[in-house]
Amino acid sequence: MQLDPTSGWCHGIRHCPSPNCNVRPQGEISLLVIHNISLPPGQFGTGKVQAFFQNRLVAEEHPYFAGIATLQVSAHFLIERDGAITQFVSCNERAWHAGQSSFGGRENCNDFSLGIELEGTDEQPFTDAQYAALVALTRVLQRTYPALTLDRICGHSDIAPTRKTDPGPAFDWPRLRAALMDKKE
Ligand SMILES: [Zn+2]
Repeated sequence: MQLDPTSGWCHGIRHCPSPNCNVRPQGEISLLVIHNISLPPGQFGTGKVQAFFQNRLVAEEHPYFAGIATLQVSAHFLIERDGAITQFVSCNERAWHAGQSSFGGRENCNDFSLGIELEGTDEQPFTDAQYAALVALTRVLQRTYPALTLDRICGHSDIAPTRKTDPGPAFDWPRLRAALMDKKE
């Protein structure tokens, strides 16, 4: 996996381009936001997250889809249960994952952040393959964007605490931080 800083796309992973993105107002990338998602909630490997981020979700297919099918959202990356990574938006562009949000007194975190979705729920443990992929991806991102220090990796619930609970209590923050600090890994 290699990140081309000019295009903002990672080579060696799947690409599934989303139209739900636009220009970063300051061109800044200084925050990494971790999320979880599964569609329908609690079901994995359905391909519906990809459809959702490409505005292809069919409202009639599931009662839950009816409520979200018209939303225009995206994240830069999705890590599925088997560790497969898909990129939807160039890192150079602003993906629409954080919504109304604030980090360190600054609002609109989409402007200056990258968003990674882990396929999952708040309550179910994420897989070893997902942690391994998340660590590898984060390291690649940190090499290109050195502002993404450990203290600037957070959860959606940290930047939108009244609206969002993801990645949830099942996400093992100490495990991620320890792996990122371990130079051998
Ligand atoms: Zn989220």
